[in-house]
Amino acid sequence: MRRLRRVKIVATLGPASAQRAVVAELFRAGADVFRINMSHATHDGMREQVRMIRALEEEFGRPIAILADLQGPKLRVGEFDGGAAMLAEGATFVLDADKAPGDSSRVQLPHPEILRSLEPGHTILIDDGKVRLRIEEATPERAMTRVEVGGRVSNRKGVNLPDTLIPVSAMTGKDRSDLEAALNEGVDWIAVSFVQRAEDVAEVRKIARGRALVLAKIEKPQAIARLDEIIDMSDALMVARGDLGVEMPLEKVPGLQKRITRTARRLGKPVVVATQMLESMINAPVPTRAEVSDVATAVYEGADAVMLSAESVAGKYPQAAVATMNRIAEEVENDPNYPGIIAAQRTAPEPTGADAIAVATRDVAETLDLKAICAWTSSGATGLRIARERPRTGILALTPSINTARRLALVWGVHALVCADAKDTNDMTDRACSIAAREGFAAPDQRIIVVAGVPFGTPGATNMVRIAFIGRDLAAS
Ligand code: PEP
Repeated sequence: MRRLRRVKIVATLGPASAQRAVVAELFRAGADVFRINMSHATHDGMREQVRMIRALEEEFGRPIAILADLQGPKLRVGEFDGGAAMLAEGATFVLDADKAPGDSSRVQLPHPEILRSLEPGHTILIDDGKVRLRIEEATPERAMTRVEVGGRVSNRKGVNLPDTLIPVSAMTGKDRSDLEAALNEGVDWIAVSFVQRAEDVAEVRKIARGRALVLAKIEKPQAIARLDEIIDMSDALMVARGDLGVEMPLEKVPGLQKRITRTARRLGKPVVVATQMLESMINAPVPTRAEVSDVATAVYEGADAVMLSAESVAGKYPQAAVATMNRIAEEVENDPNYPGIIAAQRTAPEPTGADAIAVATRDVAETLDLKAICAWTSSGATGLRIARERPRTGILALTPSINTARRLALVWGVHALVCADAKDTNDMTDRACSIAAREGFAAPDQRIIVVAGVPFGTPGATNMVRIAFIGRDLAAS
């Protein structure tokens, strides 16, 4: 089974996609990666989902990536007398440490370390920004605010602090336990929420110890300010537009999406564009024109993946949502303008052997109209550096490691396959030729380019390129 597009599709699982038959439909329709949102999944539920995806992987014979998304330090207000209160615009409203039920003049903020970091002038957003408060006075125990945008606030509504550098790590006790559970199940990617600094990602990497790759969700202004150091520490990024659009003015999100996508592309790290891509498909079988345009924009930008959240978690049409993304992606990638737009954002290679070979490989493949770039890759690094070039030629990553193949399911243009390491350079070429023919990349009498690191199995040793002709005997083997 081969996708006819380069951009990948991430589908979040939830009640609307709990059944094995539905998840199979999502895979058939185009999902390459399944996301498990640990904000909602129990450990048993997560284990069940992982087992189900691994069984489908077996059934379809294609590597599938699993992304476990940690909840992070989601802040919430305490409880109100009667369950809710109306906050009037222009009135004062106090956040304090008192557990007593709140009213229209005050409520508990049950995070003492956060109360201590609030400063006059900072904004406090409640319920995805529906209510906005500005701090006028702050002590370590209470913050007196002015209500700038009023409204009803009910028990335990979410709080965002766009101006405040939160002095706690991006990982809570719940995240630590979720992380251990997800690593024990062998998930491929871990997403870290509410990252503020590179250290937040480093902490997860230290625990993961290579068992999974780490993706930083960019959703806070503090992360935007430190984007370069965060991306250096991360294996991938997500433009998490839900919280990003709460913490930053909405009109800044498109520009930030371009900046994050381009930074990730420059550094050769996968980038996922997420949230509300086909939001209206939660309730309707077709998307709006604006949503189609939004998905198309991410594809034209050369993002590695586009993501579905509520559409596949709780929508009425999860399969149609994946199929719609798939169709948009195929159409955009067939647009005659697409190669030029993608190439215009290509940046100079880094001065490494792997990048020099990746550039040369793309150049040779495109000049000679070769039918596939076959990269032998043990860690996946060669596959990633070739994908960074965004070649017009299809990329076939051959790896002895199922973990590498699964991880590469998130990466632009890479069709990964597990096979034993090559014995020598002739075996490397012959097997690449027969696999390229079998997987539908090339036909007999056509040519491919083979890239490898010799000696085999040495990560980071990409040093060999060979143009190979698909003989009729190899195509049949
Ligand atoms: C987001 O905020 O856009 C996001 C992807 O995170 P979550 O779904 O965990 O809110």
